[in-house]
Amino acid sequence: MNETLLMIPGPTRVAPRVLKAMSENIVNHRSAVFGEIITETTEMMSEVFQTENQSYILTGSGTAAMEAALASILNNGDKVLNIIGGKFGQRFMQITEVHGGIPIELEVEWGYGVDPEDVKYILEEEDKIKAVTIVHNETSTGVTNPIDEVGKIVKDHDTLYVVDTVSSLGGDDVFVDGYNIDICVTGSQKCLAAPPGMAAITLSDDAWKIVDETPSSTYYLDMKKYHKSGSGTPPETPYTPSVSLMYAMREALNVVMEEGLESRVKRHELAALATRNGVKAMGLELFAQPEVSSNTVTAIKMPEGITDPQLRGTMRDKYRIELAGGQDHLKGNVFRIGHMGNITEQEIITTIAALEMTLKGLGLDICLGEGIAAVEEAYLIN
Ligand SMILES: *Cc1c(COP(=O)(O)O)cnc(C)c1O
Repeated sequence: MNETLLMIPGPTRVAPRVLKAMSENIVNHRSAVFGEIITETTEMMSEVFQTENQSYILTGSGTAAMEAALASILNNGDKVLNIIGGKFGQRFMQITEVHGGIPIELEVEWGYGVDPEDVKYILEEEDKIKAVTIVHNETSTGVTNPIDEVGKIVKDHDTLYVVDTVSSLGGDDVFVDGYNIDICVTGSQKCLAAPPGMAAITLSDDAWKIVDETPSSTYYLDMKKYHKSGSGTPPETPYTPSVSLMYAMREALNVVMEEGLESRVKRHELAALATRNGVKAMGLELFAQPEVSSNTVTAIKMPEGITDPQLRGTMRDKYRIELAGGQDHLKGNVFRIGHMGNITEQEIITTIAALEMTLKGLGLDICLGEGIAAVEEAYLIN
């Protein structure tokens, strides 16, 4: 069987040693043996988050951690500033509503990053904003928001800073403590290159203060329960976790640690640069503004006269490369190349070469080799 190359923004290809870790037999999830696995995994998780605070692993996809964050801090009627520049920014707003919060929406044009001054303005105008939500890397548009700059502003206000780093952690700089982040969430299946099904969350002392005084609006994702179970001897999770996925998570984080965070971010940066240069050299246009382009996913405007099923269908059927489509109003108008997780130059070279052949085959005026030359140059020069 020919394996399909996953060039999508998650789930990403999992290393064989991570898959192998999952084949270990199940142990008692309330035992010293498993407690040790939880400890190792959460300690590495905190290192990746670059925080002194405790991290928690939840069974569920990234959205579970987004929901755990808001459901554990919101009372009915609490105001939340939701920064929305794409699909995942909208998700935080919808979760805010589900848990009784009142969204104050800061709409950012898709393809652009948020202007920190706009955040400052709202925080000064509106009182009693319980939390600010932001998506670091807006996967739907290929935009990376300036979470460091926004963090400096939020710090001066009595509000919690809640950041979604699901598609950036492990592929871009995320300094949870350094950026004044109060609650940071991520998922297993993106840059961390573990299988889908786990999420991680970390909370600051300020966040815990609010969590402790707020009746949770969720039973399963109540962070108070995670805190209590996680602080025991041995540390546990409140309910049965996916034991096999915890093995995988630990091994995937071992891989991250071995590579080193800085090298890993550099590798992603280079993959993004090579991808952007490659598609631009082919004559295609990028969707995101250049100054906010993502390290982990590139959104590209669909070339005139080519449809999404033609482009992605050919890439999939003929070249066995899976790309992502556009979401919501971008459906059919953009396609996305994910370059996160264990991606190396091998996959980028293959993808750009196949894209040239695909577009040429579909009748586009493509000069074969120009895209791939730009990729080669990016890798040789940097
Ligand atoms: C993938 C993703 C999520 C979570 O999606 P799940 O399918 O629940 O894992 C959240 N935010 C961003 C930015 C993402 O890319």
